[in-house]
Amino acid sequence: MAPTPTIELIHRGSEGYEEARRATCRNRHLPDRYAEVIVQATNEAEAAAAIRLAAENDWRVAIRSGGHSFSCNHIREGGMLLDLSRLNDVEIDGAAMTAAVGPGCRSDELDALLAERDLFFPVGHCQGVGLGGYLLQGGFGWNSRTLGMACESVLAIDYVDADGEVRHASPEENADVYWAARGSGPGFVGAITRYHLRLYPRPAFIGSRLGVYPLEKFEEVFRWVKEVGPTVSQHVELMWVVTRRLPITGEPGMMVIVAVFADSEEEARQEVSFVDSRPDGATMFLPFTEMSLAELTAETMSNYPEDHNHVVDNTWTHATADELLPAMRGILEDLPPAPSHFIWLNWSPKTQRSEMAFSLEDEFYTAQYGLWSEDDEHLEEPVTAWVNAGIAALAPHSSGIQLADENLARRDAPFMAEANRARLESIRQERDPGRRFHTYGSVAD
Ligand SMILES: Cc1cc2nc3c(=O)[nH]c(=O)nc-3n(C[C@H](O)[C@H](O)[C@H](O)COP(=O)(O)OP(=O)(O)OC[C@H]3O[C@@H](n4cnc5c(N)ncnc54)[C@H](O)[C@@H]3O)c2cc1C
Repeated sequence: MAPTPTIELIHRGSEGYEEARRATCRNRHLPDRYAEVIVQATNEAEAAAAIRLAAENDWRVAIRSGGHSFSCNHIREGGMLLDLSRLNDVEIDGAAMTAAVGPGCRSDELDALLAERDLFFPVGHCQGVGLGGYLLQGGFGWNSRTLGMACESVLAIDYVDADGEVRHASPEENADVYWAARGSGPGFVGAITRYHLRLYPRPAFIGSRLGVYPLEKFEEVFRWVKEVGPTVSQHVELMWVVTRRLPITGEPGMMVIVAVFADSEEEARQEVSFVDSRPDGATMFLPFTEMSLAELTAETMSNYPEDHNHVVDNTWTHATADELLPAMRGILEDLPPAPSHFIWLNWSPKTQRSEMAFSLEDEFYTAQYGLWSEDDEHLEEPVTAWVNAGIAALAPHSSGIQLADENLARRDAPFMAEANRARLESIRQERDPGRRFHTYGSVAD
């Protein structure tokens, strides 16, 4: 038996504790909750030893990989905060089209390694998103409308269970845990130390079209994206962003973003030709351009600056434009200063989903990203009120939320089919009966 590694504990109140706690969150708006100890594991053996130590001390465990949870879900009161960001190794087997990836590996890091080999994985749309939390909650990745939720390309996982044992889960082994790992997000029943992923050939052509409209065209553009959305090819991502300062012009406005993943430039051009039906009155509509995924990601990032406070919430919907418009107008009227923004994403899933915990999605996705800088503390109240009011106005038309942008500690909402939620809780009862691991922020646990 391998010797138990020595675990370094950063105790609450000790020097370096607050720095280590804050460094675990991308969101600068941390909850006032403090773990008793923080452990920064550097490998799987340390992660397992940390969980055994937590069991000995009867500490509950909250886990962090990339720290991109907008709600800072891993910041809990008491117990252990287990930071797995240092488990970020990547092994790529190009012949087998598979990769073994640590949960601390970031979406953009994995993509850069795959791009060198002409391979592809549906990574998240922004730099820095940790694969640990991203894959667990489902993973709405680049080209996911074609390739499926990123978690559908998880072949197996290695994880530490509630007793501190390292285990493997796949369709053949610990199949219930494998089922849970694909969509349970913060409700997972262990600590994932490695994902085994299926890879894909890199699309031969990645490109985009970008259009800018003034805010006065809000209703026309909304009706258009709503109408064309369900008809656009699964190779196309259509997104609409509304903000008081567009990164591209510095002016208030709306951006229509069309990204395409195709086998050839000709196919890509044909698949984005639907933009010819767009409303008149655009400030600009840039020509169709070939782009690398890194460039597309950098463009998306311009709406998500670092070092900001965030309050974020979201809604799935399939309601009609007329049903949604009153709520949408309210969101526009009260839109706070940039970088706060509103997005509308065409999803319209067509593919049959795998058997997994992930089970709630709809035609369209809307999210309100409330952001303010440390110099603008006075914005916390109006920005939070804007997010809450918009979500409340959309609530009658909501079919649930994504865990990607969850806000469960502030507002409970459905995020999984009821039967799947019940199954997950029965798996928890068996795999983590003592509730070693924290779950969703909505649960008083
Ligand atoms: C700028 C930005 C862009 C984003 N873009 C996308 C996007 O394009 N698509 C998308 O789907 N999502 C996106 N997200 C959401 C993101 O995928 C989720 O917040 C995800 O949880 C982040 O994973 P993480 O490891 O970085 O987060 P963390 O905050 O570290 O983890 C989130 C939660 O997952 C659980 N968890 C994390 N790691 C482990 C582990 N190893 N074992 C067990 N449980 C674990 C914990 O409960 C933790 O609280 C984005 C977020 C941001 C901030």
